[in-house]
Amino acid sequence: MSKKSDLTGMRFGRLTAIKSTNERKNGYTVWICRCDCGNTVHAASRFLKNGWMTSCGCEEKKPRYEDLTGRRFGKLQVLSIAQERDAHGRILWNCVCDCGNTILVPAGQLVNGYRRSCGCLSRPPLKDWVGRQFGELTVTAYDGKREKKTLLEMQVQLRE
Ligand SMILES: [Zn+2]
Ligand SMILES: [Zn+2]
Repeated sequence: MSKKSDLTGMRFGRLTAIKSTNERKNGYTVWICRCDCGNTVHAASRFLKNGWMTSCGCEEKKPRYEDLTGRRFGKLQVLSIAQERDAHGRILWNCVCDCGNTILVPAGQLVNGYRRSCGCLSRPPLKDWVGRQFGELTVTAYDGKREKKTLLEMQVQLRE
């Protein structure tokens, strides 16, 4: 009979071997292991030693996602994972834009570069249009919003 290695108290990923059983699986001792999540599972020593089994299965059930915390995408800085999910059940991330707005963005939109700001990047504030020229018209002042329309004061340069 081969010498049985004592795995008691040894950790294998999230599993800690508690005690051996009389059970054998393909000739290998089956151990009772406790997972970090609190579950208890039976695992053959071979599976543990070779790293084939590193949890009760709870790890596989966890949604797989890349941790984007602290990453920067354009003007967006990822703060944390959000509790909310979008309509498709996708994970959303709390992001803060350089302009100060905070928004929720699905990871895919950040990673593929679709989202680089809260929206302020694609729509520069119209206040900043003062001084811009459109043909013979020059924007002289921002006149605020009225009935959802932004009003700009323009000056026409008439050629003599
Ligand atoms: Zn577990
Ligand atoms: Zn912004």
